[in-house]
Amino acid sequence: MKKIYFITGSQDLYGEETLTQAEKDSREMVGFLNGKLDDIAAVEHTPIVKTAAEAEQLCIKATADEDCIGVIMWMHTFSPAKMWIRALQALKKPMLHLHTQYNEKLPYDSIDMDFMNLNQSAHGDREFGFICTRLGIRREVVAGYYKHEDVIEQLRRFAHAAAAVDFGKGMRVAMFGNNMRDVAVTDGDRVESEIKYGWSVNYYGIGDLVKIANEVTDSEVDAKMKEYADKYDMDTDNLDAVREQAKYEVALDRFIAKENISAFTDTFQDLHGLNQLPGIAVQNVMAKGIGFGPEGDYKTSALGAVMQKMAEGRKGSTGFMEDYTYDLTEGKELELAAHMLEVSPVFAANKPKIQVHPLGIGGKSDPARLVFDGVSGEGIAVSMIDMGNRFRLVCAEISLVKQPKPMPKLPVARLMWKIKPDFRTGAAAWIYAGGAHHAVVSTALTSEDIRLFAKMTDTELVIIDGKTDLNTFEQQLEMLDIKSRIKG
Ligand code: MN
Repeated sequence: MKKIYFITGSQDLYGEETLTQAEKDSREMVGFLNGKLDDIAAVEHTPIVKTAAEAEQLCIKATADEDCIGVIMWMHTFSPAKMWIRALQALKKPMLHLHTQYNEKLPYDSIDMDFMNLNQSAHGDREFGFICTRLGIRREVVAGYYKHEDVIEQLRRFAHAAAAVDFGKGMRVAMFGNNMRDVAVTDGDRVESEIKYGWSVNYYGIGDLVKIANEVTDSEVDAKMKEYADKYDMDTDNLDAVREQAKYEVALDRFIAKENISAFTDTFQDLHGLNQLPGIAVQNVMAKGIGFGPEGDYKTSALGAVMQKMAEGRKGSTGFMEDYTYDLTEGKELELAAHMLEVSPVFAANKPKIQVHPLGIGGKSDPARLVFDGVSGEGIAVSMIDMGNRFRLVCAEISLVKQPKPMPKLPVARLMWKIKPDFRTGAAAWIYAGGAHHAVVSTALTSEDIRLFAKMTDTELVIIDGKTDLNTFEQQLEMLDIKSRIKG
């Protein structure tokens, strides 16, 4: 079980009685918060911090503890902040500074100086905040009574994002083939991805998968076909084409388990030994929580796995999507997103149909794929690009909508959405920011989740939402360019 340390700051000037009470209060608060967060991570009480040495030891312990995904800091009393300097320099885990109190209301009738001495986070958290700011520490500050719903919601969001960052450390990403020839935006610096996020991205020959596929037995394919028939409508007579995909799925599952892979890419330019571009096979693997990026897009595949981790246990769907074409009816502009084949069935609004159609590119046999209309609701589209000297996340808020009319001749799964604040602004902002035609779309996460992830990983982020104004947005991009040059 992953855990979050709850660290309560004080000092040794207060005397036994106050410190005993502070310890007791902190323990009670941790018990409450653990009950609210323990489906994500256990909130673990730590002894109240009274000295610089204790602070340092605790932060070193949190940093070294493989199960610790983050820390929550709170100053119950005043805690002189020079005693936190070495501790904070040692801390390498995401931090949430919880600006709260043990008591919700002031006890107007009984308040005295003893009460004031014990309950002074208004004082102590400012001192602690100063030293964090002075040290340039990126942290999330949450202010409010710890039992209030909005505070708990923010703590849960922090825990989800911290879990996703932790998940990324050492995450293994497989690239079958390389980046699609000549494509710029899907390419990236894999060494930098590992330095920054811990994503270990490596190339495999498609032959490694072909070999496993050739060893898949007929009975394994039969079992997979039965699963397809139970879950989907078999809308084709070409069962051999579907069996081919079933074989690929079994092979992919086996490869993923063997190599401990969390995300992968393929490319239609390198399918030697496969008769079809993997369609249903990839669609089903995505629905099991594995990240995917087509055309060698390792950044989108890895980001997809991380965002699915962030969304664990939450309502909604998360997966790879590609910007394809538009309905540009004035004032009612809609985007149609899809891919050649690979759209995760987690986005299906209706029961997916298995169909077999030719593919315009790649020169392979007609691949079987799942075809369906997409879900509606509020969501985000997130793209990660490599700016040369840093990565950038572009996060757009979108409203997914029901497709206005059937598209009986479109042989792929699709989603439709409106970008915020309106097409003219949102689409232009995305293009100014350099956002890709590949993104991870989620109706489970919000731009707040991505903001937290970006903060914890020190990744540049631009958000396109209902308040976006192009002039301000372009100025923000200019400022970010200048900042990146100063940071070098
Ligand atoms: Mn694509």
